[in-house]
Amino acid sequence: MKTRDRLRIAVQKSGRLSESSQTLLAQCGLKFRQSRDKLFCFGETHPVDLLLVRDDDIPGLIADGVCDLGFVGRNVLEEQRLDQIANKGESALQALRSLGYGSCRLSIATPQDEEFEGPQSLAGRRIATSYPRLLGRYLADAGVTAQIVVLSGSVEIAPRLGTADVICDLVSSGATLIANQLKESVTLLESEAVLAAATTEFLDTRQPMLDLLLRRLDGVMAVRETRLLMMRASRLALAKVRGALPINAFTTVMAVQDDESQVALQSVISGAFGWAELEAIQAAGATQLLVLPVERMLA
Ligand code: ATP
Ligand code: ZN
Repeated sequence: MKTRDRLRIAVQKSGRLSESSQTLLAQCGLKFRQSRDKLFCFGETHPVDLLLVRDDDIPGLIADGVCDLGFVGRNVLEEQRLDQIANKGESALQALRSLGYGSCRLSIATPQDEEFEGPQSLAGRRIATSYPRLLGRYLADAGVTAQIVVLSGSVEIAPRLGTADVICDLVSSGATLIANQLKESVTLLESEAVLAAATTEFLDTRQPMLDLLLRRLDGVMAVRETRLLMMRASRLALAKVRGALPINAFTTVMAVQDDESQVALQSVISGAFGWAELEAIQAAGATQLLVLPVERMLA
């Protein structure tokens, strides 16, 4: 592999993943200056530069060594990995981290007025998709023979145009399917944005930079769902209050000056935490409950 002293990350130039990808990098403390042609961003704080490209180009840029990392949908990465395996017998790409945004699924959608009775309902049909490898793998695993019609966009209108009977496309809310009189029948892949990379390690200064980026990404991801809960409780109610806290809560109990009957609690909680959970803690005897967002965490 070529050596380089700066990491190069491919991110989507404009589209569903661009803003969240750039925000995530900013949350990791990386700042960039954009070039005049808006295709390249020079890293001002770290030896990390960005290349702004179409999302479909990202796996190829990494495979060719032009970029070291990429923020791309698992759907695109998996499709191109399968394509490389089919053409060359192997793929040196992997997803290093799931990033928690860009959620969608690759699903087969069939006409609303048709009964769907499992994969055999697809036998002999024409299925329009931009994901022929993922669809091909699903059909092969199910032992079904169908005709794959490869389209690069506007897949959802193929049944109305008469170019296909069924589609295999990305779905998030499902509104597009309903508008086209289709229903989601099988999910082939759950997707979200991932950090893609080659499977080989760097032998130069890019490796410590990647390690730093991964540590910071993990820190950002860890606090996404993390809250700091502050409250008071009487010593008598302490056991009950602690029992009402989420099982994975990390709690510190402190004395309250001038009131020996009371304690102050500070609890780091992760995972879904809403009104119902908060009310249960109050019912257990806690008072003055405060829920604060957590910005950063170093474990
Ligand atoms: P580009 O011009 O970069 O090729 P694009 O039109 O292929 O853009 P977008 O529509 O911006 O790409 O989608 C990028 C990624 O966002 C998808 O590959 C997928 O991982 C994710 N995504 C999330 N929700 C949806 C959705 N409802 N439809 C399509 N993609 C979605
Ligand atoms: Zn694209």
